[in-house]
Amino acid sequence: MKCPNCGNRTEIDIDMHSDGFTNDQSPVKECGACGLLWRVKIEAGETVVDIIRQPEKK
Ligand SMILES: [Zn+2]
Repeated sequence: MKCPNCGNRTEIDIDMHSDGFTNDQSPVKECGACGLLWRVKIEAGETVVDIIRQPEKK
């Protein structure tokens, strides 16, 4: 999926060791372009983008 911040597709899965993650939580992703750290989760059947770390401001 695209980065929810900048729309870039250069994403990196950083949560490769998936111990204990469930169907409701996808791996943490990092945008290779802006540095946003996010995860997509399912809440009550809706896809929610969970921003973990905002990109650094320049
Ligand atoms: Zn981005």
